Amino acid sequence: MGKVARVLFLGGLGRSGTTLLERVLGELPGVCTLGEVVHLWQRDLRDDERCGCGTRFSGCAFWTAVGEEAFGGWHRVDVDRVLALQAAVERTRHIPRLAGGLIAAGRLARLTEYAGYYLAVYRAAARVTGARLLIDSSKHSALAHCLRWAVAQPAGQPGVEPVDLRVAHVVRDARGVAYSWTKTVARPEAEGVAVMTRYSPARSALLWNAHNAAFDLISRCGVPVARLRYEDFLADPRRVVRELAGFGGLDLSDDPLAFLGDGHVDLRPGHSAAGNPMRFTTGRVPLRRDDAWRAALPPRQRRLVRALCGPLLHRYGYTGSPSTRAAPTEERPLPAGRDRP
Ligand SMILES: [Zn+2]
Repeated sequence: MGKVARVLFLGGLGRSGTTLLERVLGELPGVCTLGEVVHLWQRDLRDDERCGCGTRFSGCAFWTAVGEEAFGGWHRVDVDRVLALQAAVERTRHIPRLAGGLIAAGRLARLTEYAGYYLAVYRAAARVTGARLLIDSSKHSALAHCLRWAVAQPAGQPGVEPVDLRVAHVVRDARGVAYSWTKTVARPEAEGVAVMTRYSPARSALLWNAHNAAFDLISRCGVPVARLRYEDFLADPRRVVRELAGFGGLDLSDDPLAFLGDGHVDLRPGHSAAGNPMRFTTGRVPLRRDDAWRAALPPRQRRLVRALCGPLLHRYGYTGSPSTRAAPTEERPLPAGRDRP
């Protein structure tokens, strides 16, 4: 990887398809996927949940090697400290201040310390694997803004590689996202009976607006951002994967992408640290649009989500009527938006 650890951060609101996209990108040569590093501290270090490879985090050879390289062993990381910093600095409500460019010295110190744990993980994963591109599918917009500040700080120690941060902003139709958040999804990696968080359509619509606007904002803060629609990825995964790989600095023009078939992908086990249970899925997985929301989300709630998310739905090209099955602007793949500062 040379002197730079290059990271592609998958951003967007949860249930937008980032886990599937991460798994597909993880099949590319030179790519190492890390899962949702944002949850590593609580779910893996503290709770010892299962890695994507199926073993407990503490028993996974990959993460053990990364912890040794990054910190001299995970036991040397003060999880309480990381979680306290996370609660203090990684807040959605801080995003306007972070994007505004003015930040108090004390806050910047805490932010830099917090993001430093992530940068240490990235650098260590790059050294351990030799990967040319790391993928963090943490999604959280506030974390992306923290990382943006941290990578812009002067290197603290000589010989520490800079981190090249790029963001893939994944958007999915807010009505599909809202429907997904109403469903009950089990979390098999946790002990006992555990399910993922559920939100009402109104709540997920507001979150959808806030998080997507935050990623629109970060592209104006000097971070390279490629925006893609999940529906376009499913319609033409080869094109989107090649474009994203190119955005991440990988040249795959001669790669046949043999793991991607017509309407399916063949997935091998990975070491995604935390995230959607889909990270445990291996073998042949269908790639097809999930339009269940069109029938399953009650019309009143569809209208509500559309009203709340109207401006951004329009901006991202979701301009068809929610009750129209074949609105041309919804069905036609669009080129991935690419915002460069
Ligand atoms: Zn593992």
